[in-house]
Amino acid sequence: MTFQLFGLPVSRGIAIGRAVLVASSRIDVAHYYVGADAVETEIDRLRVARDAVAAGLAAMKNDLPAEAPAELSALLDVHLMLLHDESLTGATKQWIRERHYNAEWALSAQLEVLARQFDEMEDEYLRERKADLEQVVERLLGVLARGEDGASPIVAPASGGDPLVLVANDISPADMLQWKGGVFLGFVTDVGGKTSHTAIVARSMDIPAVVGAREASRLIRQDDWLVIDGDAGTVIVDPPPSVIEEYRAIKRERDASRAGLARLRHLPAVTLDGEAVELLANIEQPGDAAAALEAGACGIGLFRSEFLFMNRGGDLPGEDEQFEAYRTAVEAMKGLPVTIRTVDIGADKALDRMSANELRHEHALNPALGLRAIRWSLSDPAMFRQQLRAILRAAAHGKVRVLLPMVAHLSEVRQTLDALARARQQLDDAGRAYGPVEIGGMVEVPAAALVLPAFLRHFDFVSIGTNDLIQYTLAIDRADEAVAYLYNPWHPAVLQLIAQTIAGARAAGKGVSVCGEMAGDTAFSELLLAMGLRSFSMHPSQIVAVKQRVLGADAGRWSQSLGRILGADDPERECLVVTSAMSENAHLVEGHRAPRAVASEPAL
Ligand code: PEP
Ligand code: MG
Repeated sequence: MTFQLFGLPVSRGIAIGRAVLVASSRIDVAHYYVGADAVETEIDRLRVARDAVAAGLAAMKNDLPAEAPAELSALLDVHLMLLHDESLTGATKQWIRERHYNAEWALSAQLEVLARQFDEMEDEYLRERKADLEQVVERLLGVLARGEDGASPIVAPASGGDPLVLVANDISPADMLQWKGGVFLGFVTDVGGKTSHTAIVARSMDIPAVVGAREASRLIRQDDWLVIDGDAGTVIVDPPPSVIEEYRAIKRERDASRAGLARLRHLPAVTLDGEAVELLANIEQPGDAAAALEAGACGIGLFRSEFLFMNRGGDLPGEDEQFEAYRTAVEAMKGLPVTIRTVDIGADKALDRMSANELRHEHALNPALGLRAIRWSLSDPAMFRQQLRAILRAAAHGKVRVLLPMVAHLSEVRQTLDALARARQQLDDAGRAYGPVEIGGMVEVPAAALVLPAFLRHFDFVSIGTNDLIQYTLAIDRADEAVAYLYNPWHPAVLQLIAQTIAGARAAGKGVSVCGEMAGDTAFSELLLAMGLRSFSMHPSQIVAVKQRVLGADAGRWSQSLGRILGADDPERECLVVTSAMSENAHLVEGHRAPRAVASEPAL
């Protein structure tokens, strides 16, 4: 019987194949009391199991193939960290000592306690780490039950040559490693959210995936044919042959258009009227730089350095470690510019440690308005200088720009410039080499857009963070699903602030780019060009699609309609009207390098 399941679309594309069900690996545990004389033996069993799982995870990390996504190594580190956390193994020992539970019972009892704590966490990312904890506990239980290293390799069943897709309650990063070889074309999980590890890894592997499809692993049977639509977040179970054929055709079409687009990767992005446009990449780890180059990026417009600071179990990266990370990215970009944003921690991006700052932040009533981004850095001058020194040292190896997140006050700029001067002095004193950097600020709060000229006296460039600019202009918490319907990039106030910032920076002869999601959204490409934007920074996977829009746009003609669009009550509608008028009249315009409407003779 055909039916459809709905989940979250987390990695795009269509996958069609037979289901391989990986049963939810919750292990039935034995519950019994151990005698007082057997307590130490039971604790020993736990210790041996922990060491075996740790060795298994470490070996897996060691054996990661060179082409494995960088996230996998980080995920294995998270599992190792959870495994050694006192709140897991230490507290489990307590259950054995005080209640005389057997090791398995103690472990599952402690999992219940910790799972409840995760469920109560407000931060979505941290809440989703519960799945990682469960996977670690399952490994421990697996060793206790079988005396092995807890790994439960997913072996692809004989499928008679049919393509396979994986269905599971959840998939651990370690298990995902095993099918990296291309055994499965897509996957569906019952649990998971946008930022769950499975979603992150699926995206980095570019495999269609739907997560959070709740009952999927219960409702789907082994060998069922499935159509996974990673763009729509749907799974069609047991579709009739006609539906499979239809999706195969859609898939061919999408694959062909992606392949066609891929040919644009290394073409320069120039508009029809000859305006050169810079398409840059946003990255989170130094290892992402290779993918950025491969996607045709002409530099890194946003290196979100805070990802180096997260999930480290309490310690922050030192100067040398940061320097190595920045230098790796800089060298990978082979002379192209790398824009390193100083730590933008806070609000939806929490550190995992509870530093004094974090504690204050956690208890703030409005974390998005609290001690975050540049404010957080300036509250710990030694830590901030450490990051600046690492960036300055990396600048000796290539072209580096420093970007300050969420500046709103001139005093923040002055303090940062002082910190930079001190960092240089410290490097001089230590005899360390460093290079020149350009310095810029993010325009993410309306205040920065409104007093832009004052900021521009200190900055070499600005970068518009539309994700936060929308949040702060419209007073919409970008992480709050309840008000997500009001989070509207087309709001005239947002567009006017963006247009004003681009015009102001250009008039002052300073560089300006957009690095929020709007830069990679093709619905805005022509409008941003009309505003005068010539530098866009986005996820590498969006570059070719934006390039296609740039190649087909006439920036000059678009700029003639800018006033009309910005003055409209509904700019989105107005933009569509302009788009269709342009394509209808395209053949009338002289000087085009490529015909825009060639299908039929114009009816003059
Ligand atoms: C933004 O706010 O638009 C931005 C690029 O920064 P982040 O999404 O990392 O907050
Ligand atoms: Mg931001």
